[in-house]
Amino acid sequence: MKTDVDQIWQWLEQVSDPEIPVISVVDLGIVREVAFAEDGSCEIMITPTYSGCPAMEVIAQEITTALQQHGIHKIHINSRLTPAWTTDWMSEAGKEKLKNYGIAPPAQKVIDISGISRKQQALALNCPQCGSANTRLVSQFGSTACKALYRCADCLEPFDYFKAH
Ligand SMILES: [Zn+2]
Repeated sequence: MKTDVDQIWQWLEQVSDPEIPVISVVDLGIVREVAFAEDGSCEIMITPTYSGCPAMEVIAQEITTALQQHGIHKIHINSRLTPAWTTDWMSEAGKEKLKNYGIAPPAQKVIDISGISRKQQALALNCPQCGSANTRLVSQFGSTACKALYRCADCLEPFDYFKAH
């Protein structure tokens, strides 16, 4: 039986991000392309997220392990740095999973027309616990460099915001 590309994508949806176990590498938008080479090997193109997140080797290893469990042994994982990964590549399903996990998902990037500033901090974030928009930035760096720490002024719960990037 021949494995097709769709099947590979389905298997990759089971590979979770090492830092946020509820979200898969596919939902994150890290896996860019899946193809079979002429010699039958599986070629996977991944784009790293934040350079500050040292998870790419772990992710490549997890992808390899997952595919090996399904009998795929010839695997080439390549990484591509441009275009750079952006939180806009995250799937809507992925954003929903983040929210349910208690992390405010990245907002669409707001880019000033003049091109001078990206107004990320000006965003009114909704608290993932109670939905209140009455939230404040506590620190640009939360549990990892990819996240900022916010606190809800209504339910007083702190929460991570996955920064738009
Ligand atoms: Zn709240």
